[in-house]
Amino acid sequence: MVEEEVVRMYDVIIIGAGAAGLTAAIYARRRLLKTLVISLDIGGQALLTEQIENYPGYLDKSGPKLMRIFEKQARDFGAEILIGYVTKVEKINDHFKVISNVGEFETKTVIVAAGKVPRKLNVPGEDKFLGRGVSTCVTCDAPFARNKIVAVVGGGNSALEGVEVVSKFASKVYLIHRREQFRADEITVEKVKNLPNVEFILNHVITEIKGDKKLESIVIQNVKTGETKELKVDMVFLEIGHETKIDFVKHLVKVDDYNQIITNKAAETSCPGIFAAGDVTNSPYKQLVIAAAEGAIAALSAYNYIARREGKDIIKADWKG
Ligand code: NAP
Repeated sequence: MVEEEVVRMYDVIIIGAGAAGLTAAIYARRRLLKTLVISLDIGGQALLTEQIENYPGYLDKSGPKLMRIFEKQARDFGAEILIGYVTKVEKINDHFKVISNVGEFETKTVIVAAGKVPRKLNVPGEDKFLGRGVSTCVTCDAPFARNKIVAVVGGGNSALEGVEVVSKFASKVYLIHRREQFRADEITVEKVKNLPNVEFILNHVITEIKGDKKLESIVIQNVKTGETKELKVDMVFLEIGHETKIDFVKHLVKVDDYNQIITNKAAETSCPGIFAAGDVTNSPYKQLVIAAAEGAIAALSAYNYIARREGKDIIKADWKG
């Protein structure tokens, strides 16, 4: 007997379970939409910080704890959550098929809340040592640098603040930045520059990460002279920003120059029935509270999209009566 393919119809499938995705799930379930969340992790980028000081109404500061509360609320309201990754969203007549490594599902609407992932250098040796000497989260992995020689790459706030954190553990920290100017706040640059075990190597990029069983050195190149040299390091921290990974849906929605999904104020994308929220979108200011708010908007818009098509009352988007 041929095994029947499991295809289930949802009202909304939310891709990503960070602040945007989980808030969308809470709001979707408040409207009794049959809701599935598919995500690589539960909590997204907030899992990586113990220092959230600006999420209103939350004084604890721990990102992971805050995300566990989001998750509990979403589950308590009845959202299903699957850990996995989506490989493709297909439009089939008036609905969508979501293909993932945990199954294929059909849905009336999709909310993309997939956030951003750490940018990589794309140099030889990087993949080989990723998670084994190369880290994309200095604040998470700094304690592993105790008494080691490390390099932090980047010139933004993440890199400079990362240098400050890791300098408390490492014996020596090189800050490698491709320019002389920094995106980081001046006050942080000044503070870090004066730390005794920190050395700035400016106008340089890493061209190779080397080692046999463990990471042993990096090759750096002066971007002005082209000169290269090898530096002995035990760990490399990449703090060079984040990027969207949205190949699974890019054929259906318009994106901006930074590969972010273009949305309007109602979290609608260029494709009716697909909504987007949080860091994956082109909206400004990547903040937890903003991602959460966009998740709520996306869920309410998904509800209205379904309600209009099914002849039900819609939620009014204004208070004009
Ligand atoms: P960012 O501000 O985008 O900085 C990324 C840095 O990496 C830039 O200096 C960039 O160099 C460099 N870079 C990018 N691609 C590179 C490559 N392929 N090779 C070498 N270098 C590369 O990213 P971020 O530091 O992660 O910060 C993201 C946002 O979060 C920012 O708005 C930041 O202010 C904010 N943030 C705030 C705080 C805080 O307020 N406490 C803390 C962390 C982050 P160029 O400068 O040459 O482009």
